[in-house]
Amino acid sequence: MQFKPYWHDTTPPFTQAERGPLEGHYDVAIIGGGFTGLSAALHLAKAGVRVAVLEGGRVGSGASGRNGGHLNNGLAHSFLAAKQHLGAERARALYRAFDDAVDSIERIVREEKIDCAFRRAGKLKLASKPPHFESLARNFETVHAEVDPDTALLRREELGAEVGSHAFHGAMLSRKSAMMHMGRYTTGLATAAARHGARIFENTLVTGRRTIDSKTQLSAQRGTILADTVILATGAYTTESFPYFRRRLIPVGSFIIATRPLTEKEIAATMPGNRTYVTSMNIGNYFRLAPDNRMIFGGRARFSATSDQRSDEKSGAILRASLTKLFPHLADVEIDYCWGGLVDMTQDRFPRAGFADGVWYAMGYSGHGAQMSTQMGIFLADAILGRGDRNPIAGLEWPVIPGYSGKAWFLPLVGLYYKMLDKIQ
Ligand SMILES: Cc1cc2nc3c(=O)[nH]c(=O)nc-3n(C[C@H](O)[C@H](O)[C@H](O)COP(=O)(O)OP(=O)(O)OC[C@H]3O[C@@H](n4cnc5c(N)ncnc54)[C@H](O)[C@@H]3O)c2cc1C
Repeated sequence: MQFKPYWHDTTPPFTQAERGPLEGHYDVAIIGGGFTGLSAALHLAKAGVRVAVLEGGRVGSGASGRNGGHLNNGLAHSFLAAKQHLGAERARALYRAFDDAVDSIERIVREEKIDCAFRRAGKLKLASKPPHFESLARNFETVHAEVDPDTALLRREELGAEVGSHAFHGAMLSRKSAMMHMGRYTTGLATAAARHGARIFENTLVTGRRTIDSKTQLSAQRGTILADTVILATGAYTTESFPYFRRRLIPVGSFIIATRPLTEKEIAATMPGNRTYVTSMNIGNYFRLAPDNRMIFGGRARFSATSDQRSDEKSGAILRASLTKLFPHLADVEIDYCWGGLVDMTQDRFPRAGFADGVWYAMGYSGHGAQMSTQMGIFLADAILGRGDRNPIAGLEWPVIPGYSGKAWFLPLVGLYYKMLDKIQ
């Protein structure tokens, strides 16, 4: 078994990174080379803006190269709960922004000719318990009537053609959802941004920031640059240099295993619908097929604030047990990859984007950002270009988490709480 993301292992490396020192003056400097930063860079560069991306590791070394590869449309939350929390108008706007995010990725993939197996697969949200199906059905009625007619409710007896497990009590289908190869999209996005003129500096961790004559100087080990405008696109990997954001974001580990490629017979017995699948438990699972027919099976597994080989291995063992419980016929299947990454959670699990602490930013996707990060990069670029602010969560309050400075000591307690909820609900 390899302890690295399947996406990294099966993607040709990005070859256009800058080799020289970090120097010069840019219109926009973007800190972070995940989907948010690379998408903003592509759109700014296409508009003729001088843009530099400063990435601490390699492009896609954060969550963008480590995720489950579900490009799900609409909200991960119940739409009913979102209406209550955000108000009906904002909840609808946010739902549609997620839909548009999947469309934007499809368009970028087509325009920039990115070979990443993008496919409108549809998503199934699977009810793990009978009461979960009742609440899925209530949510479905409102979603279907108000924002997304491209949805359907499937009863337990209709699931046979979709998923080969007896563990579920029905599901909601969202047909607009998609999937792709996340690594090849990352490299494709970075290559497209570079082709349009963005300069991308890898292994360039920004450690200092100061204002000089209304410009920002950013410093890293390999040099400094001046920028008129800065975008912070660092998500769950935001470092101590940016405490304003660290005090509002909780990095939470999420973990994934990938099996060996399944045979046609195993696929028919496991995921005949070939969609993205998400279960309804608080500590639930998500799974799909990879382009080479591996099963990519993920979940929070345990509430850990770290993802390193030891932590990923422990979580991988829990995921293997969950996979076996849902699909006993795969009990002995070889696991080829195990990895983890950090998810940028906000307290209410809604993303945040706008301008604060001297920078433009978009983050806090809370595990539902593989699509929205591309869209937020576009929104940020448009706002900076003066093309109007289409950000559906503009102005949404983002208070500091009391007593918190970026080290999530309370995560194991949160894990226990959700475990208990999963037992009783
Ligand atoms: C295991 C896992 C599974 C997931 N599954 C899904 C899924 O199936 N569907 C879904 O919608 N979402 C999923 N997500 C979430 C999704 O991947 C993220 O929301 C999205 O990739 C965020 O992109 P980003 O560009 O904002 O951040 P990232 O991709 O995390 O990029 C931030 C980058 O900033 C860099 N950085 C940080 N600090 C600095 C600094 N000081 N200087 C320079 N660079 C810096 C980091 O190195 C990193 O590369 C998952 C996340 C994880 C971890």
